[in-house]
Amino acid sequence: MENNKMKLQFLSLSENESFARSTVGCFALGLNPNLADISDIKTAVSEAVTNCIVHGYPNEVGNITIESEIRGNELHINISDEGVGIDDIERAVQPFFTTFEGSERSGMGFTIMQSFMDDVKVTSEKGKGTSVYMMKKIVGELKEENA
Ligand code: ATP
Ligand code: MG
Repeated sequence: MENNKMKLQFLSLSENESFARSTVGCFALGLNPNLADISDIKTAVSEAVTNCIVHGYPNEVGNITIESEIRGNELHINISDEGVGIDDIERAVQPFFTTFEGSERSGMGFTIMQSFMDDVKVTSEKGKGTSVYMMKKIVGELKEENA
């Protein structure tokens, strides 16, 4: 399978969440994923991008960058913002941890990314921004044979 790479940059406007999710979903089609794989990838991207919009840039509109690469049967995704950054990454990735005031956030975004992807790594610097690296192995045909 050919390696492939893409880079996408867009503003942290809430309507760009579905744009980003769909675009990465389309890019991932190069790996011949099944519907469950595509759904997992879109959900993980949606969580990461929503975090950039809501938490990374709480009081301003800024740039969000997605870089993605197909390497063999793996999809590598890096989603980054240049926003406020995360104080304590270890605490932020815990299930149910949220800094959001209000009821509509459950603190499950990172937990969802971890459960739907094969690898998730968060790096962040206070005042400089946050990057979320995620990787998923697509084993489509093998899975169907085993089913
Ligand atoms: P949910 O995703 O369930 O709506 P949530 O966004 O608060 O709730 P997580 O996605 O797990 O939960 O994120 C946990 C916490 O990590 C957030 O509340 C926020 O404090 C911090 N965080 C996550 N992403 C970023 C980011 N890009 N920039 C700054 N802080 C972030
Ligand atoms: Mg979240």
